[in-house]
Amino acid sequence: MSMAEFRFDRLFIGGEWVAPIDGGLRDSIDPATGQPWTQVAFGGVRDVDRAVAAARAAFEGPWRKMAPWERAGLLRKFAELYATQVEALAQVESRDNGRAIRESRGDIGLHPQYWHWFASLADKADGRTIPMDDSVHAFTSRLPVGVVGTITPWNVPLMAATWKLGPALAAGCTVVLKPAEQTPASSLALAHLFEQAGFPPGVVNVVPGDGPVAGARLVAHPDVDKIAFTGEGATAKTILKTGADTLKRFSFELGGKAPHIIFADADIENAVNAATGSAWALCGQSCALGSRVLVERPVYDRVVEAFRRNAGRVRVGNQMDPATHMGPQAHAEQLAKTLSYVDIGRDEGAELVAGGGRIDREGFAGGYFVEPTVFAGVAPQMRIAQEEIFGPVAAIIPFDGEDEAVAIANGTPYGLAAGLWTGDVGRAHRVANRIEAGMVWVNTYRYIRWSTPYGGVKTSGWGRENGVEALDSYLETRTTVISTTGKFADPFAN
Ligand code: NAD
Repeated sequence: MSMAEFRFDRLFIGGEWVAPIDGGLRDSIDPATGQPWTQVAFGGVRDVDRAVAAARAAFEGPWRKMAPWERAGLLRKFAELYATQVEALAQVESRDNGRAIRESRGDIGLHPQYWHWFASLADKADGRTIPMDDSVHAFTSRLPVGVVGTITPWNVPLMAATWKLGPALAAGCTVVLKPAEQTPASSLALAHLFEQAGFPPGVVNVVPGDGPVAGARLVAHPDVDKIAFTGEGATAKTILKTGADTLKRFSFELGGKAPHIIFADADIENAVNAATGSAWALCGQSCALGSRVLVERPVYDRVVEAFRRNAGRVRVGNQMDPATHMGPQAHAEQLAKTLSYVDIGRDEGAELVAGGGRIDREGFAGGYFVEPTVFAGVAPQMRIAQEEIFGPVAAIIPFDGEDEAVAIANGTPYGLAAGLWTGDVGRAHRVANRIEAGMVWVNTYRYIRWSTPYGGVKTSGWGRENGVEALDSYLETRTTVISTTGKFADPFAN
């Protein structure tokens, strides 16, 4: 299919393309121009209810009856189909969220491997036997949680959907996907692929809609067994309250303020390549980016200078141009947020080394473009070092020695990811061991694959995606104990 062949003006419910009952059509904005590029169907409460009913019927019906290896086969077929659609999906996603097309191609180009990985997990949800005495045989079985509501963010819609739907379907769950209101199109494109691959109706349903309406209904719905959410911590707290009455399961992938630590004994050239690349990738809009750059004092000036120089080398431009390194911010609200943090950084007394402004000269007018921005001389307690900006703003913090590096690295409420660069293998182990994060990279950065578990500690999340651990999130353990004798003593005999 090409981008033009995907339809975005219908919801995908129960295997059919249907008009919203409660919502309507909404413009989706190209962040490079601030103008609509397509219209997307938005659903409301009754649409979510229809989708949940379809997912429930599929769960109780064909999906549950399908043998695990048959589910695996369908997922493999889907992975192969996905591989043929990488370019079309990348075009849709970049147009909708402003991510440079070269990045979308790279990221989405890996997704088929994720789908193959999840397919391979479908028949691995085995239990174990539990050693007991001879009178019983005890064993566990692992069963799908049921109907899963997946709620995804605007920065990486297809990645978030892949990381959730892959293991959920492999585990035998059915899904209602509600993408972010700013970037719903690629999730509807995904629905086309599920339809083409021949998944039974209702196994996957896609309902774009507003978070506080469609999202909240999915969370509150008594027939949804689990919510898998990626987004902000504040939204996760609201979701917990909304879902409290049903005591459903939750997994959360939340924000980050990842420290990228550069020791003086590191290979500085490579460290700077990784740190600058990571600070501005996705226009700064990713939870795992090294937005705090911690630099040991002997190499501090050198690293700051390299950041300043590389800021000038970033080609900012229309996201659909293959030459572009960094596109616009995904939406107007995020643009305003990023610019407000530039003001905050200045007011806090950090030194603005590069960028800091909106780009609205000819060719950029109306778009949500910001300059790659660098603050140096940042103190660990400043807001620009503590709060998730989600824009292309690097905060460089000097430190002396391992203890201070670890204290600064761990000194935020977040704990998603961290990077460290050193030439000393002992130090690599020592420091990595002390970092409070779900993921630590040593002498590399943002190496994330289908087989590497990913998720946060502290306020960065609950649970892990990817790896074999991904399945756990979508399974319940049932313990069965069977008597080998059938005898049960009379309780009132004595
Ligand atoms: P967000 O929390 O604003 O929105 C995420 C989703 O939640 C959207 O689909 C939205 O419609 C929905 N939502 C909003 N209010 C809701 C409600 N009351 N009930 C149910 N659903 C509701 O997040 P965002 O701004 O789209 O995404 C950016 C955030 O996501 C950042 O904090 C980023 O760090 C985080 N993120 C984390 C990871 C990770 O893997 N840890 C990955 C990507 C993004």
